[in-house]
Amino acid sequence: MLKNSKQVIAVDLDEVLFPFVKPFFEEHFNPKFGTNYIEDDIFTYELENVVGKTREEVISEIDIFYKSGALERILPFNNAAEIIDFLRIKYALHAVTARPDFIREETQQSLQMHFPKNSFQAIHFTNQYHGGSEIREKVDICKLIGAIAIVEDSYRNAIQCADSGMKAFLLKKPWSEYKVTGKESPNLFPINNLREILKHL
Ligand SMILES: [Mg+2]
Repeated sequence: MLKNSKQVIAVDLDEVLFPFVKPFFEEHFNPKFGTNYIEDDIFTYELENVVGKTREEVISEIDIFYKSGALERILPFNNAAEIIDFLRIKYALHAVTARPDFIREETQQSLQMHFPKNSFQAIHFTNQYHGGSEIREKVDICKLIGAIAIVEDSYRNAIQCADSGMKAFLLKKPWSEYKVTGKESPNLFPINNLREILKHL
């Protein structure tokens, strides 16, 4: 087998390539509980701290949402396929997601459906919220695959990768905390959209 000499970039899925918070609240949570949450309300990705439920309850609602076929319905952000198509020419892309192992198949299918064929060399699942299988840190996966950069919307994952010497592109979202922590790194690049990555690579 030919050794792949391209530099590796890790790409998060939820809120980087696909929306999650918006469809989860609009399609599932709000109608079920009679609430009105919008993206701007989500000041942390630890949703239990936003909605006044336990972590177990939130995870159970996310499971129900997944099992309703959500991943078949959720479309990627507008320019995501275009940027991935561009990046994959020069870089080996690995999807690194906090999603649980049990939606591996649906995840593979939606990437195949919406992105150019073989855009991603592999998909790594960290099970960070759901457990069930081995829980891993994204930074550890990034080290393992030799990533030079990661694209993320989680400040926690991004700063861990930045502190380990990778470039971390942090999409600014209401929950990204990029403004409030005061902790910065020369490797951390807050971005407004995926296209801005190209300026910093
Ligand atoms: Mg994400």
